[in-house]
Amino acid sequence: MSQNQPVRSPAGSRSVAGRVVIVTGAASGIGKATVEAFRNEGALVAGLDVTFSADSPESSSDHVELACDVSNDAAVTSAVDTVRNQLGPIDILVNNAGVSLPTPIADPNFEDGWLRSLDINLTAQTRMIRACLDDLLRLGDGRIVNIASTEGLGGTANISGYTASKHGVVGLTRSLAVELGKSGVTVNAVCPGPINTGMTQEIADDHKAIFSRRFTALRRYGDPHEVADLIVSISLPSASYLTGAIIPVDGGMIARNQ
Ligand code: NAD
Repeated sequence: MSQNQPVRSPAGSRSVAGRVVIVTGAASGIGKATVEAFRNEGALVAGLDVTFSADSPESSSDHVELACDVSNDAAVTSAVDTVRNQLGPIDILVNNAGVSLPTPIADPNFEDGWLRSLDINLTAQTRMIRACLDDLLRLGDGRIVNIASTEGLGGTANISGYTASKHGVVGLTRSLAVELGKSGVTVNAVCPGPINTGMTQEIADDHKAIFSRRFTALRRYGDPHEVADLIVSISLPSASYLTGAIIPVDGGMIARNQ
């Protein structure tokens, strides 16, 4: 660790300065914006992504980018060890990596899409949490933020693997909030609605406009930074009585459909 790193913000403060953060799925969209948002607040941030180069990892005293496939146990253990050695013990884990693999139930490849969706979107979150757990527990104010989706609260045709995985993230979050509550570690889930990222880039602009006018209160797609800023807020040391919460960041989509 470098001598120039900021001092770790005190318990109960409204600052993440000096806190060590891991964000998965950090190369694009919400993950990339979350890395930026934490760095802007003085946190020490490690971004993990399957698309980062393994040959030339980005590294400075307050930021590392590591190639890591979160569906691979050994890769996760090794990446978390590297972060711990370079930045220090992990204070905040943002489980954001995800894939959307539309596969109708009658598709011959249904099981592949189903298993991959569950592995990357759900099981990998438990893998990351287990790898970081001792660090998160050590001072009684660790933060886990799991990225679910409005698909974790409702359903859309042809993406049952995705929808089931996101419902699973909601259940995982609630159960771990109870399990880890006595340690002071908080576990919350964020449910983005329609956000302009790599995951939605194939959708034509006119379809996005029609969809958001019809289904969201704010009549527009969200920007990744609007999700990232909420993630930072619920990771603050002062956010110490928020746990087991499932928080939509969806431009009012859930509210409008009720
Ligand atoms: P994105 O495609 O822009 O980013 C996802 C990132 O995850 C990519 O950089 C990708 O390389 C990485 N990734 C995929 N598989 C990985 C693996 N095995 N290991 C490591 N990294 C992996 O999409 P996004 O919209 O920013 O998605 C971020 C999260 O937000 C996902 O969990 C997604 O399900 C959720 N979400 C997105 C929306 C939306 O409208 N964009 C809505 C609801 C939920």
